Amino acid sequence: MPLKPSSESSRPAEPVILPRAAHGLSRSRIDPNTLQVLYRLRRAGHLAYLVGGGVRDLLLGRTPKDFDVGTDATPQQVKKLFRNCFLVGRRFRLAHVRFGADEVVEVATFRRQATADDLPEDPSDHRLLAENVFGTPREDAFRRDFTINALFYDIATFSIIDHVGGLADLEARRLRVIGDPLVRFTEDPVRMLRALEFAARLDFTLDEATREGIYTRAPLIAEAAPARIREELLELFRHAVAGKVLRQAQATGLLEPLLAGFEGDDATFALLDRIDARTRGGAPPGEGLVLAALFLSRFLRQCPPTADLPIGQVLELANLELDLHCGYFRISHGTRHQARELLVGCYRLGRGRGHRGERRFLQHPATPLALELFDLWHQTPDGHRQLVETWRSTLHQPAKPGVPQAPAEAPAAPQKRRRRGRRRRPRGAARPDA
Ligand code: ATP
Ligand code: MG
Repeated sequence: MPLKPSSESSRPAEPVILPRAAHGLSRSRIDPNTLQVLYRLRRAGHLAYLVGGGVRDLLLGRTPKDFDVGTDATPQQVKKLFRNCFLVGRRFRLAHVRFGADEVVEVATFRRQATADDLPEDPSDHRLLAENVFGTPREDAFRRDFTINALFYDIATFSIIDHVGGLADLEARRLRVIGDPLVRFTEDPVRMLRALEFAARLDFTLDEATREGIYTRAPLIAEAAPARIREELLELFRHAVAGKVLRQAQATGLLEPLLAGFEGDDATFALLDRIDARTRGGAPPGEGLVLAALFLSRFLRQCPPTADLPIGQVLELANLELDLHCGYFRISHGTRHQARELLVGCYRLGRGRGHRGERRFLQHPATPLALELFDLWHQTPDGHRQLVETWRSTLHQPAKPGVPQAPAEAPAAPQKRRRRGRRRRPRGAARPDA
């Protein structure tokens, strides 16, 4: 991939500097450990800036997820200043300053975008090393992704330093790539997904050139490292913007190369919206639930609950739905298993009560979550509300040992009760009600 510097012509000649009196970013909103790191770097004679999303969020009056520090001190110099400091990262050497058991302040030395000259002659050789080139604060601003993510807060003067026009974009609530979107998306296609994510999270509009850049470069996302895509996808769910962003991805041609085999139909997008609403009211979904939600619509089309298929075949179809995605993204066996349980659980719930294996199904640890997913899926006017309620009351009824529970809804064709006790099944065959 070419590593050209971003378009020089569009760069403002001088940074905009907002003195303390001209902005609303107050130190009291910065985490005290981060402040301590900034002050100590400053006292040792280094530049010390709050950088990235922390500045953006504080200027917008939002609570930042975390705070990052930028400095002209090298990682080694940072390490000398802090007792609890560890150098991490192969691609970029970063300093992690630890506080207590679980707080880390990340300190990065200003760096610049690698250019062709920084690369070794043999391109297969150490591209990673070439990316770790230190630079000036201005160069550091320009190697960042979006203008609103490249603002600096200087602890020496309490002013905001803007090299890239980020303040104007914050004001206009606009998400804009730094430099030429075509170049920046070629350098790193994951930025396309991040662009949609930030626009959705902040409710900003996408700058026109940024949007067109996504249209043009969308196919490149298929070449991005699966681990990064997987992480950004989970990020969409954590921030409750999965429905919004994946719709936008479809509209800009990004969805197909992003998630091969995933079909963005209206029912799925509506389900993702409801999962996002659930996240806003509580905790984000785990990855098993995310996977099941992404593939539920397709899965239920393959095996509608009315088809009355043997559970072994339903399990097989659930596996088939998940195989491609889980293989590509190297999703752990446990997570894939949970997603499969949720899909099959939705099938069982959709069939109604009174089927074989119901007792074990009701006691299965995945069933409450399957019911939650089933409920979210059916929150439409024609949804099976009655069925959801029936299952819910059954699930919340404490089971009396030894007493068969009467189904609240009569099954279409009553089945013979299975013999109690274990029946042998052939080695290797799927458990009928796993
Ligand atoms: P949040 O943490 O709230 O999701 P953030 O802006 O802090 O948002 P991070 O992913 O934590 O995002 O990255 C920190 C900063 O690093 C960004 O603000 C941006 O300046 C820079 N950055 C991150 N990813 C890229 C990228 N792919 N290309 C260029 N710069 C990036
Ligand atoms: Mg961050």
